[in-house]
Amino acid sequence: MSVTVRFAPSPTGFIHIGNVRTALFNWLYALKNDGQFVLRYDDTDIARSKAEYAEQIAKDLNWLGVKPHRVEYQSKRMANYDEAAQRLKDAGLLYPCYETADELERRRKIRLGRKLPPLYGREALKLTDEEKAAFEAEGRKPHWRFLLPNFENDPFTTKRTEIVFEDAVRGRQAVDLASMSDPVLIREDGTYLYTLPSVVDDIEMGVTHIIRGDDHVTNTGAQIALFEAMGATAPQFGHHNLLTTISGEGLSKRTGALSIKSLEEGGYEPMAVNSLAVLIGTSENVSAVPDMKALAELFDITSTTKSAAKFDPAELDGLNETLVHALTFDDVKERLSAAGVDVADERAKDFWTLIVKNLKKVSDAGDWWPIIANGKASDAVLEGDDLEFASDAFDALPEGPVDNQTWKQWTDALKASSGRKGRGLFMPLRIALTGRAWGPELADLLPLLGREEILARRP
Ligand code: GLU
Repeated sequence: MSVTVRFAPSPTGFIHIGNVRTALFNWLYALKNDGQFVLRYDDTDIARSKAEYAEQIAKDLNWLGVKPHRVEYQSKRMANYDEAAQRLKDAGLLYPCYETADELERRRKIRLGRKLPPLYGREALKLTDEEKAAFEAEGRKPHWRFLLPNFENDPFTTKRTEIVFEDAVRGRQAVDLASMSDPVLIREDGTYLYTLPSVVDDIEMGVTHIIRGDDHVTNTGAQIALFEAMGATAPQFGHHNLLTTISGEGLSKRTGALSIKSLEEGGYEPMAVNSLAVLIGTSENVSAVPDMKALAELFDITSTTKSAAKFDPAELDGLNETLVHALTFDDVKERLSAAGVDVADERAKDFWTLIVKNLKKVSDAGDWWPIIANGKASDAVLEGDDLEFASDAFDALPEGPVDNQTWKQWTDALKASSGRKGRGLFMPLRIALTGRAWGPELADLLPLLGREEILARRP
């Protein structure tokens, strides 16, 4: 069977690492199974959906390396939903209800008071045509509920009706359709809630696997019933655990914190984000995986744990650093240029080799380039004995070409002449040469600077 998956974000904010976990689970599943990935904007909520968010989602996915085979907007498929809704109405499976929110709340309280589950009692099914017409004449508009198949002949006498599905992550799940109210599929203003468009699209787009967050497990029972009511077989489901912040709160699109956009702007490597988003909350160790293909090999949906996983942004820094250290000059040339490094300069490639081990982010190289190319920084200054020692030390710079032996020869000579060693010896030289108290290997820095430039840095 060919595999088709979908990622169905609502474009109501910037997507975060938790949303991307869902996208990546789907993407990797498709990759592993030679399947198709549909990006389907769940944008039926016209008031909250924005084109700018949809565009950003496309950019974010592209940056991460997720390349949809097909892109769909639910807002452009209303005719399909209208048609499906009409079929359900004709079959008596979608029925109009006129209760206001207050009326429903009052009934709910009465039921609770009688120690009954607060379910919708299907009162609207009893309305006569005259009663409906009277509501309409009053100006009331109906909302529409899907009649769950949880009864034999009489919808007012429900019976335990288990919908059982084998979840790729959570194993066998059973939901009793008699334990829930008939879901509202169409609001009073005629707009669709997520359920119907989602099921219609899953059928029409040939979705074979629905991989999504486990906040949707409880929706699945009614959705499977809806698939069947529309004459289709439900796809396979896999509900993965959600990510929370370190303090256990859910991630929110609203705050923009940890949005993929902010991580990109913060200079993170996409594969650092992907590695963490996919491997956290699984039995696999979280490690820095260099590319999507390797990540697909590690990915196994069944190794996802059931409980929520805490996401620590600090972990991202470590993964990022590991990935950055493995990058070659050619990998980063364009980004170095954007960070202000003159990549056409003959020293640029050696500069990268020198500096890469000191970097947490590629863009940080932009900070070091002027120090190497133009002159030292002034972050650290020399004083007193250290200043005197460093200044004199330049007289002892070994003769001849400066190469990777020069540092050792120079410092051996200085050790003997000054009696200084360790930090007391190296730090004044480091500060004299770079203007910083930390940085790249000085043995490698010297040949890059060259004799003239070294001597010009005498304090
Ligand atoms: N827009 C829904 C969400 O982001 C899609 C749920 C689904 O995948 O069925 O939660």
